[in-house]
Amino acid sequence: MGFPYFNIHSHFRDKQNAAIFQASSIQEDCWFSFGIHPWDSDSNSDFGVFHETLKHQNCLAVGEIGLDKLSGVNLDSQIQIFTRQIELSEEFQLPVIIHCVRAWNELKLLKRSLNPTQSWIYHGFSKNNILDEVLAEGMFVSFGQRIMNDQDLLKSTLDVPMNKIFFETDNKQVEIEQIFSAFANAKQITLQELKKIQFENFKRVFKKWKNG
Ligand SMILES: [Zn+2]
Repeated sequence: MGFPYFNIHSHFRDKQNAAIFQASSIQEDCWFSFGIHPWDSDSNSDFGVFHETLKHQNCLAVGEIGLDKLSGVNLDSQIQIFTRQIELSEEFQLPVIIHCVRAWNELKLLKRSLNPTQSWIYHGFSKNNILDEVLAEGMFVSFGQRIMNDQDLLKSTLDVPMNKIFFETDNKQVEIEQIFSAFANAKQITLQELKKIQFENFKRVFKKWKNG
């Protein structure tokens, strides 16, 4: 049996693969994630549409949400909007796709205090120096295009337990197959083995996903 390529986070529609589209509204024809990005986390953030959007059968995750110290948005208000969305992810039993820029300590403390039951996935991971800590907090990590041209990062992916790793194209013009190939080569496993492992991870974490 052939497994699809799982792409857990894409800003483009990726109909060839089993992909989660980063959407700003309900999508009737593809899997999607939905949430308020930290860049948009001001006091005008509208939670009115969350309930009907998150309960939609195609909504697989809350995201991307998180903390970003490079954004102009006040950190307290980011934390407030993030926390509210974590509560919704717990209520709707949806995993979370996390955007975290220069705010790992704050995120770690929030993870500990909120103590979520749902999986948190640190997307677009690129910070080798915090990888051990992120894994120690029980988070998943998702890697993108960067592993194709950053040898140190590619090497650090080899330390991630296979049941904690995902891959994504994010907002890059790259095929998910290329990212899978880069990792499979480095890990010295076949593409087919990797696709099977990703299938197991994906169905375990994105519980609303139905194959076919
Ligand atoms: Zn993104």
